[in-house]
Amino acid sequence: MMNKTEEKRSASFAIIQAAFVFMFLFSLLLGSVIFYDFSNVNLGALAFIIATICSLLLAKNIYEIANNEEKQKEIGKKISDDYINHPPKKLFTEVYDNSPIAYLILDKNGKIVSTNKSAVRLLGRSPVILKDTAFFSCVDTSKTEHLVLIKEKFRNGVVVVDEEIEISRDEGPAWATMSILPFTDSLGNRASLVTLLDITKQKEVDTAKSEFVSLASHQLRTPIAGMRWSAELLLMDEVGTLTKQQRRYVNRLLTNIQRMANLIDDFLQVSRFDLGTRELETEVVDIQKMIDEVVGEQTVLFSSKNLKLEKHFDNSIKEFVTDAKLLRMIITNLYNNAIKYSKNDGEVEISYLREGNDLIFSVRDSGIGIPKSDQPRIFSKVFRASNAMKEVPDGTGLGLYIVKKAVQVLRGRVTFKSTENVGTTFTVVIPVTL
Ligand code: ADP
Repeated sequence: MMNKTEEKRSASFAIIQAAFVFMFLFSLLLGSVIFYDFSNVNLGALAFIIATICSLLLAKNIYEIANNEEKQKEIGKKISDDYINHPPKKLFTEVYDNSPIAYLILDKNGKIVSTNKSAVRLLGRSPVILKDTAFFSCVDTSKTEHLVLIKEKFRNGVVVVDEEIEISRDEGPAWATMSILPFTDSLGNRASLVTLLDITKQKEVDTAKSEFVSLASHQLRTPIAGMRWSAELLLMDEVGTLTKQQRRYVNRLLTNIQRMANLIDDFLQVSRFDLGTRELETEVVDIQKMIDEVVGEQTVLFSSKNLKLEKHFDNSIKEFVTDAKLLRMIITNLYNNAIKYSKNDGEVEISYLREGNDLIFSVRDSGIGIPKSDQPRIFSKVFRASNAMKEVPDGTGLGLYIVKKAVQVLRGRVTFKSTENVGTTFTVVIPVTL
């Protein structure tokens, strides 16, 4: 197809050609007049005739250029339509083979049928070895809690999108985001296309960061505990009586030490979840007692807002086996948020009930709510909604991330419903052993 510069060049060429023809015919005419002395010939009329011939020539050439361009466009469109509607098989094979994304085709049992070059590189095994190997045997199952769910989706032919997995291989682990797209092959058999995007480098950087945060938070715990004990000692009368103002300062010191300790705890939890080092530690839990303890810990903030608390507990499920620390983390963060984002004189409701082997725990508030546009990102690390940043400037955006991760380790799910300026309800469903 002609591009713009070529079109311009052809049009200029047509004009130059017409000008040359005109000059040639006119000089021929002039020469003939001088040579043969046609003194009674009307030069003006002849020049007009020549100019008309040249204009016709010019118009013809320009028409051809334009027509040619239309034809080229049509041919180009036909070619590109053909590529879209019937792409050549060779093109597919080239893209499949040489794509920087790893592609694998699995049969209905999850056995590898075909791999491209990137897949061979990423999985660190030869195509011969990979052929007929169960794909999920290449994935590290020890640290990936959600792999059970992924396998279940695969078995049921459900699409899997962008799930992070760890690949075990001889030269050290690799990380990838995996998608699985089921399809039916030409023989009518169920098969799946697996795409793996290598994120090993990014993961290594993230891991190094998380390890640093984990180490730093861990090391900071001891000096913070020391500061708290000293401040608490100062408040004891045995050390010496403090003036009212000194007492106020020490209390302020204690409040800030507590905030710092909470923050460090959150950093530590997040880094543990990110490193995948948080393992399930189950024990018998009395949920009613746990909720009462959490509520007791937050009385100061609760009372300062003059809130009303409602409790709805299902007495058929008082004790069960779960990870107590993770459950406490979930309850504390959700209840603390409910208070933090409540307006004065508002209402908070905390409830749980049993449904089969599931515990359904929820916290409802009549607070500021979460704007619709912010809702999709609410469980992301360090994300805070626009209204929360204005109304409650103090916040890290780590609480809900911790809740999401803790729920994941417990193999449950967390959802929420929220309307701005009306309120929010968070619901957690976790399987429990009675
Ligand atoms: P933080 O509360 O420290 O900002 P979280 O991770 O606990 O961090 O919460 C993330 C964001 O979710 C909050 O900043 C807030 O915008 C929103 N949010 C969480 N819980 C509630 C709630 N009960 N009501 C309104 N907004 C909430």
